[in-house]
Parts: sequence; structure tokens; C-alpha cells
Amino acid sequence: MVSALYIHIPFCVSKCRYCSFSSFAGLNGLYDRYLLNVKKEMDQISAGCCKKMELQTVFLGGGTPTVLDPERLVNLLDHAEKLFGFAFDAEISVEANPGTVDGRALELLRQGGFDRLSLGVQSFSADELAMLGRCHSPMEADAAFKAARSAGFTNISLDLMYGLPGQTIESWRTTLITALTLEPEHLSMYQLTVEEGTPFGDLLASGKLELPDEDTVVAMDELNLELCGEAGLEMYEISNFSRPGYRCRHNINYWQNNEYHAAGAGAVSFSSGVREKRFDDPREYCRRVEAGDTVITEREELTLEASFRETVVMGLRMMDGVERECLVARFGLDPERYYGEVLEKLVAQQLVELTPTHLKVTPAGRLYSNIILAELV
Ligand code: SF4
Repeated sequence: MVSALYIHIPFCVSKCRYCSFSSFAGLNGLYDRYLLNVKKEMDQISAGCCKKMELQTVFLGGGTPTVLDPERLVNLLDHAEKLFGFAFDAEISVEANPGTVDGRALELLRQGGFDRLSLGVQSFSADELAMLGRCHSPMEADAAFKAARSAGFTNISLDLMYGLPGQTIESWRTTLITALTLEPEHLSMYQLTVEEGTPFGDLLASGKLELPDEDTVVAMDELNLELCGEAGLEMYEISNFSRPGYRCRHNINYWQNNEYHAAGAGAVSFSSGVREKRFDDPREYCRRVEAGDTVITEREELTLEASFRETVVMGLRMMDGVERECLVARFGLDPERYYGEVLEKLVAQQLVELTPTHLKVTPAGRLYSNIILAELV
């Protein structure tokens, strides 16, 4: 049964130069119409559930959900709660950009039921933020974090990016130390991936974007482990660190390849072995909901074997790895027998560890996780 809900808010103040996400700037006039249609889609999802269970996690992501005023976001959350019900200890996250929230907004969000804030800081260097095309300053990020604490958020995650054009190990160290000084419960740190079709992609293709070399990025990875470890944040997933008890339950549900509902333009849902993606453009999405047409643009039905491999690969992103007994119960397949020599080789190279209960990436294998996952996918 599905116990997680993702709601996508595809609006942003402006488009960052590296962004390939489903997000649109300048559609302010569409906000209310969009929310109405997301509610309609949630109504349909709820009506289509034959067996319903209370939601354990809800995640409002974007885009930038907080371009909408807090009253609208709380109203949307209330609608979801009426339809599905929330477990008493449900994790209710909202993403925010520092430039779009103030003390009042954060208080209303907290009082309205959101108990986890994911703040998109990315960098504490003003030059790097300008280069990325972010719409906020380091000071605004610092102020937003402190305002969130004052508003009663006791579970705050900061999103940071490294491996940026022109970034040095020292500038990354400064960003990381500044973030850790705020004492967040959770840190997500992603290496920049330059995607085609973005301004950064165009610059890279024309040789005008210089990224840090591999050794520098590896040194940054090592720094993440060292400084987060010293600050009491444990790495529990390739890119995510948390204090004990503050792992993101919503994302763990993804990495365990469990089912989840989703609503909104560009959102992806997964249930009964079927993954469905909605139209990216919120105008198209609205037209379709209003006309009673499908909002699904891509549909993927996974075979049991494909689903097994995907579950292994996604599970290996987590330091706990995958539980062999769970895999056998779910798919009737055990990784040792299924992967045979491929896995033997990775074990011999000490990149993965196969215990009687788990398959997991070794500490040495963490820096080579992309290679490992490519072998097993
Ligand atoms: S804030 Fe996030 S979603 Fe919006 S444009 Fe920037 S990177 Fe993309």
C-alpha cells in the first residue's frame, strides 16, 4: 500500500543557469488555477485507491513551493490530509528557497503542519550563487535558517552543491563549514551535473565552462565525510548526511524503491509496478485536468527482474545497503545468485560487501559508487 505523497510545485522566481528540473518562472497568474487542478488530481488519486493507508510522509517539492504564499501551501496540505489522513508521526517536508521566505511565512508553514524544511542554499559564496543564477544571497540563506529555527522547525535540511565551475577546495570548505556552523539536522550535498539544454550545458559544449578536475572533486567528497563526521552528521546515502534520527524518510522510501503517490506537473508516481510521469508544463497540465484528459505523458511498467535490479541499485545508494531477505521476499531473487561473477568481482575488489543479511557498498567503494551501480543496473 502507498504511504507517501509527493506534490510538485513547478514555479520559480527565475531559472537557475544549471537547472534542468521541471520549473517555470513568470507564471504567477497561473498559481491559483494550478493549485485547484492539483487538488482535483489528488481527489482522483484518492478515489482510485481501493486500499488506503495513512500517509507516513508528504513532500512538497519544486520548483520552489515557497513562491506561493504559506496560506496556499497550508491549504493544499489540509486538502491532502482530508483525502488520505496523515499518521500521527508523519514527516511533512516543504522545500524553500532562502529568497522566498521570511519569519512570518515560516511560522505559518510550521503552524500549518509542515515539520521538516529543506532549504536550497547551494553555496555560501556570493560569487558562486551569482554564477549559478540563484536568486538569493548567502546572508538571506543564513537569515532564513535562523528564522526557520525561531519559527519552530526542529528538522532542517540544507541543500548544497559542489564541483561548481571555478570552485576551489577552499571555497567549498568555507561553504561547508558555514553550513555546519548553523547545526542543521540534515545536509544534502550534490555534485553539479551539467545537463544539455541548460545555459551551463551550452557553455560546456562551447568550451566556455571549466569544471573542477576529478582529483579536486574526490578531495571535496573526502572533505564532506571528514567535516560532517566531525560535526556528528552521519552519511546514510551517497549524497545525504544526518544527525541520528533525522534521515529523510520520504527519500528513503524512494531509495527502497517502494510505492508513492504523486500529483502536479512533472511529478512521477510509482504504484503497482508502474511508474508514471506527468506533463511538465503546468499550463498543459491544467488544460488536461480541466478537460478530463490524462495528465500522464510517460508510463513504464517494470518487469519483476527489472524492478529487482532497480531496487538493488537504488538501495546501494544507502550506507545500510539492501537486505537480502527483503529482496527474496519481494522478488524471489537473491543478489549473490542473480549477479554471480559480476558481484564476486566487486566483492574481490572490496568495493561491495556481501554479508549473510545485507549487500552494501564498502567505505572504499563509496568513491566509486557510479561504477558499482553501472555494473549492477
Ligand atoms: S530554484 Fe531549483 S527548481 Fe528553481 S530554477 Fe533554480 S534549480 Fe531549478
